[in-house]
Amino acid sequence: MGFASASGHGVRLLLLAPPGAGKGTQGERLAAWSGARHIAAGDLLRAQAQAEGPLGREIAAHQARGDLVPDQIVLDVLTPAVTEAAAHGGYILDGFPRTLPQAIAAAELAARLGVTLDAAIYLHAPEPVLTRRLLDRASQSGRSDDKADVIRHRLRVFAETTGPLVPYYTERGILVAVDADQPPDTVTADIQARLSGLTRAADR
Ligand code: ADP
Repeated sequence: MGFASASGHGVRLLLLAPPGAGKGTQGERLAAWSGARHIAAGDLLRAQAQAEGPLGREIAAHQARGDLVPDQIVLDVLTPAVTEAAAHGGYILDGFPRTLPQAIAAAELAARLGVTLDAAIYLHAPEPVLTRRLLDRASQSGRSDDKADVIRHRLRVFAETTGPLVPYYTERGILVAVDADQPPDTVTADIQARLSGLTRAADR
């Protein structure tokens, strides 16, 4: 295993990143590397959106507009997955939390489960780079929100609503900022180097 948390109960990381920064790709790689589960909020919500009924329709409508799904729905969908993962080698949260109330709920959940967050990895890249990547991906993704106007809106929602989590985790001493405007392998290597540095610091 490449990274063992100081507590010895698996790793718990979250990926904080605007659309197009590569959190899905990095989340999968970090899960394979650490043995923790990759929990992608957008994927779990897209799966729920397929379900018949009002809840599925509500989630689908928010996602298609590029708006955040209401916090309570997100928590209802994510909490069982996080609880299960905490008992089996830890979790890499991809796209959750995305609002301050979600961050507070995630911290309360971790406390209830008797675990702590090791790091919040902030993947950053210039907005034109993010826009280009999302537009390049749009033709294959089949996602209702990969359209130029919705992409612009998602980037604005990130800046306004999720961006404040960067100072939030900085204040808590666990923010790890990584330049995501590099090839995927380089980004992975940078994250791994920073996390290994953290475990060494914790060992001292
Ligand atoms: P991206 O980061 O490229 O927008 P995601 O798959 O992470 O892709 O998210 C897609 C959409 O799913 C978001 O625009 C939002 O509608 C919904 N979503 C994902 N995570 C959350 C969350 N934590 N809170 C609210 N909505 C979310």
